[in-house]
Amino acid sequence: MLKELIDKFYMDRQRDKEQHHFYITDAGKCPRATFFKFKNAPREKMDARVLRMFDHGDYMQMQILSTLLSLGIVRASEINIPPQELISGRADAIISLGNELYVVDFKSMNSMIFKNLSSAKEENINQLQLYLHFFKIPKGILLYINKDSLELKEFIINYNPTLARTLLEDLSALKNKLDKNIVPQRIPDYPDNWQCQYCQFKEICAAAGENEINWEDFKNKITPTP
Ligand code: SF4
Repeated sequence: MLKELIDKFYMDRQRDKEQHHFYITDAGKCPRATFFKFKNAPREKMDARVLRMFDHGDYMQMQILSTLLSLGIVRASEINIPPQELISGRADAIISLGNELYVVDFKSMNSMIFKNLSSAKEENINQLQLYLHFFKIPKGILLYINKDSLELKEFIINYNPTLARTLLEDLSALKNKLDKNIVPQRIPDYPDNWQCQYCQFKEICAAAGENEINWEDFKNKITPTP
């Protein structure tokens, strides 16, 4: 009774929305999946339990931020990158420690993933690199939270201008494909890449084949005729 109501609340909140600009979380991710998000292509719905878990992660991150605020080391929180055309994003916090500034990004995960985490995850480093780039701060911290035990792990990341430039160039190239309606090719290690395992566009990606194709032609094929 209550469970159904709560599930429905989460499912109703999950609307397919066309994306109009890049988010920092898109950096370094599968360009084809990002293309499909922009075009509002048909996607698998997430179940309500997974959506609740995302919310739960957000609450934990707020709790950690509140601790950092109490420590008096937060110089800014929930801070947007300076406005520019290509991409938008919001860093969790900028802190100062020993006269140095750090951009901090919180990530929460389950025990199993946390236990095996011996270095920062590539996708999180990519995201942090762009924050460092736009805020012009040379160092950042990725702080991982175990959702089950509340243990923490942290990794200090130095700004890598070459990596930041490559990530931005890749997004510009994808913008070009979006404008020209060219669906990018699959990522090279499809379907073994972790992104494919969790991808909401698995089904249409399989139907699209391996190489670049024209979006309008493909859309006509996958859209049922009335
Ligand atoms: S299934 Fe893999 S290659 Fe295809 S869109 Fe998703 S992440 Fe990209």
